Amino acid sequence: MTSTPATTPDLLEKVTNLAKRRGFIFPSAEIYGGFRSTYDYGPLGVNMLGNVKRAWWRSMVQMRSDIVGLDAAILGPPAIWAASGHLETFTDPLVDCKKCKERWREDKIDGVCPNCGSTKFTEPRAFNLMFKTQAGPVEGEGATAYLRPETAQGIFTNFANVLATVRKKPPFGIAQIGKSFRNEITPQNFVFRTREFEQMEMEYFVAPADADQWYRYWIATRLAWYLDLGIPEEQLRLHEHAQEDLSHYSRGTTDVEFAFPWGWDELEGVANRGDYDLTQHANASGVALDYFDQTTKERYTPFVIEPAAGATRAMMAFLLAAYHEDVVEGESRTVLRLDWRLAPYQVAVLPLSKKSELEDVSREVLELLQPHFMCDYDVTQSIGRRYRRQDEVGTPYCVTVDFATLEDRAVTVRDRDTTAQVRVPIGELLASLRERTGQS
Ligand code: ATP
Repeated sequence: MTSTPATTPDLLEKVTNLAKRRGFIFPSAEIYGGFRSTYDYGPLGVNMLGNVKRAWWRSMVQMRSDIVGLDAAILGPPAIWAASGHLETFTDPLVDCKKCKERWREDKIDGVCPNCGSTKFTEPRAFNLMFKTQAGPVEGEGATAYLRPETAQGIFTNFANVLATVRKKPPFGIAQIGKSFRNEITPQNFVFRTREFEQMEMEYFVAPADADQWYRYWIATRLAWYLDLGIPEEQLRLHEHAQEDLSHYSRGTTDVEFAFPWGWDELEGVANRGDYDLTQHANASGVALDYFDQTTKERYTPFVIEPAAGATRAMMAFLLAAYHEDVVEGESRTVLRLDWRLAPYQVAVLPLSKKSELEDVSREVLELLQPHFMCDYDVTQSIGRRYRRQDEVGTPYCVTVDFATLEDRAVTVRDRDTTAQVRVPIGELLASLRERTGQS
């Protein structure tokens, strides 16, 4: 078996096509001609995106005693965004091409219009990325609301609520997964940059003197998360921002970058936000957002270390890294080498034929596995075609029920990556699959 990681120039196109053809990601509102830069997650995509979020939640909340979860509102009053600095400074530099009139984000185009090649632009204007809307039936100032451009602020505004209810003390964190909205000037590269997207953010509150140590800790921990879920080391790197490029709130930012088909680009940012956010919200709201240390009798505003990742962007990176084209026994195939924790289906149950005796046993096998694994069930086409179809969507194991199963109560388990097949008694199937996926 030969295998090439498909770092070809058309990788993006191949993955985008596969995502649509196999029900991962559809362009939104397609029957109406599409709505630029919005995407819908199909039957397989919703499984995979859910798995990405579950893997994050597991490592950030479930496996730790120092981090708790939160699910805050998406709509918020202007007061939050005035205090956080977003109304003032959450802008990108917008330029118009003087020749073709297309609009671009100046810092992303290197002085050349990607549409017509012209180098003549208008002076850059600060374009605010916030989505503004109206809450309630009466228009006017008091009704203005904003869709959140990041999940983080809901964490800061709930700092005192969480502290009072869960009795944590620094160092401790609050984690949140949810949708965010930014009126991006040039959404592009499939789901890499969209106007509606999903984030996975955690704010880790620490004593100011410990901030630098925790900043380093979270950079290393977040890099390790992507490696653990199967992105090869050579496709990941860290990029520390220069002091002059830092956002208004940041004392230090390091991005985890992935080798996207167009070059290195951000997957996640880890920032030392200092005491900026809690101080801003305390001043604006008049509510104290600090911590009193009973042992040292000191009151202080914690510093915040923030690992901020994109769920939808991470899913795209996992798909790109998993995409391979193989030749198995002289036949070429496309295979997604997804970690079993991320694959849309972990197991596919495949009756060799549509004969009812086989379907009966196959249903029995399916019901045995469904409480433990996300399973697909497929009876159409030849078994070879069905294996290829499962390889293409990354299903790690196929379980085939054939006529011998009726005699020996055993099934064939086929491994996606090696294509090796082993015979396993139905009575041992669950334990065998659990062992293969490293579950106890
Ligand atoms: P950029 O400078 O590329 O616009 P950013 O540095 O402002 O992005 P952050 O505010 O740090 O991005 O957002 C944290 C994470 O949220 C990003 O690393 C990314 O994974 C995700 N994210 C941000 N904007 C988008 C978007 N428009 N579409 C998809 N994911 C996004």
